[in-house]
Amino acid sequence: MTLHIPFDNSYAALPPDFFARVSPVPVKAPSLIAFNADLAREIGIDGWDEADLAPVFGGNRVPDGASPLAQLYAGHQFGQYNPRLGDGRAVLLGETVGPDGIRRDIQLKGSGRTPFSRMGDGRAWLGPVLREYVVSEAMHALGVPTTRALAAVRTGEPVYRERPLPGAVLTRVAQSHLRVGTFQAIAATGDHDALQTLFDYAVARHYPDAADPALFLDAVMRRQAALVAQWLSLGFIHGVMNTDNCAISGETIDYGPCAFMDSYHPATVYSSIDRFGRYSYAAQADIIVWNMAQLASALLGLMPDPEAAVEPFTAQIHTMPEMIRSEWLKRFAAKIGISDPRAEDAQLITDLLALMEASETDFTNTFRGLIDGSARGLFADPTGFDQWSELWQKRLETEPDAASMMAQANPVLIPRNHRIEEMIAAAVEGDDTLFHRLNAAYAAPFEANEADADLRQPPRPEEVVTATFCGT
Ligand code: AMP
Ligand code: MG
Repeated sequence: MTLHIPFDNSYAALPPDFFARVSPVPVKAPSLIAFNADLAREIGIDGWDEADLAPVFGGNRVPDGASPLAQLYAGHQFGQYNPRLGDGRAVLLGETVGPDGIRRDIQLKGSGRTPFSRMGDGRAWLGPVLREYVVSEAMHALGVPTTRALAAVRTGEPVYRERPLPGAVLTRVAQSHLRVGTFQAIAATGDHDALQTLFDYAVARHYPDAADPALFLDAVMRRQAALVAQWLSLGFIHGVMNTDNCAISGETIDYGPCAFMDSYHPATVYSSIDRFGRYSYAAQADIIVWNMAQLASALLGLMPDPEAAVEPFTAQIHTMPEMIRSEWLKRFAAKIGISDPRAEDAQLITDLLALMEASETDFTNTFRGLIDGSARGLFADPTGFDQWSELWQKRLETEPDAASMMAQANPVLIPRNHRIEEMIAAAVEGDDTLFHRLNAAYAAPFEANEADADLRQPPRPEEVVTATFCGT
């Protein structure tokens, strides 16, 4: 048997200035770290031999039917517009349509230089590859729309960062790699037909019922509002919500300096380059609106009279904060066992969050601990919590299914930063045991498993991760 990927490539048929044709650059000694067989089957891959995997997913052998290319995109990075980003260290092999009828991209990341590499080497080191593998798969298991990890391969070559580090390639799968920044790049050319082509492509692929720019904008806003509310409900901080890292599909994409909060504070930032907290935990709800405004600006180019469309598009963007509030309320209400939240329930939630902030309690363990009563012990002074709890219990009188709801909304396990760092440090030394253990444990994040009790623990003071780094 040989590896069979039933490619059905549509992006490669778009206008040639949407991308650059380029193959992955071969590596010295590819060796397989992980292959996600379940995902492979889900997207229609079959017939593989173990021996096929490292050469293909390390980039040394381009599989039959692939049409490798690097995609053009632009983007606002920390608010600054960069007209030419593009896949500088990634190559789209092509797409498959799975047995479920869903079209998905298969992309190698860390696969060598492309015409968009600018000053970069086109490579990735092992740390960010394993981080994205573990965290994106954990997000999927947590029920969050996200790109997936199909494979990770060591290249057998060093990459040079502050020091030489082992190189690796991640293969990821996405409903598409269309970004807000893809629209920005094409809109900036002023070529109306090209923008229309991109728009029609995105509509057909993601929003077949939204063939009009206003409907499309609304559909993307809704998915992004739901996504960011879900991030907030899990304590997830993306870390670099530039418009090029914001997917039209509404999936979480481009895991770089991302992190899950341990103790709760709304201003939490981990990313070493986010010095002003633009992408802090709580700021995510505002920034996504800003990002959607950039999408709206790009879509103006589709309108017969762009000037006249500014006002209605602006009004549309102004509806987004309410969408986010409503998604947030739904998610957080579920976390405290309320199925059909009323406006006044927001107060109950924010009161709890204020107590958590004051006591710096662990976000994940506090919410999970509401189920078995262990949350109380996490508060420095339980008096405030007891008062809150009394009101909460009263509210739950009309919620017979509160406990099971809470068990589904509050994970036992999240990929904690100190575990991720520990996993990376071991893998750099050649030991992938923890990588595999974390993948297995995080696949069932709502199940309390005695064997994984250590993974529930917040970091000890000396284990606290204070900064995370981009994937470069
Ligand atoms: P990111 O913030 O990681 O999503 O990357 C932003 C931009 O930098 C994208 O255009 C990437 O392709 C590019 N980039 C990041 N790392 C590298 C690298 N090692 N070599 C070339 N380009 C890179
Ligand atoms: Mg990116």
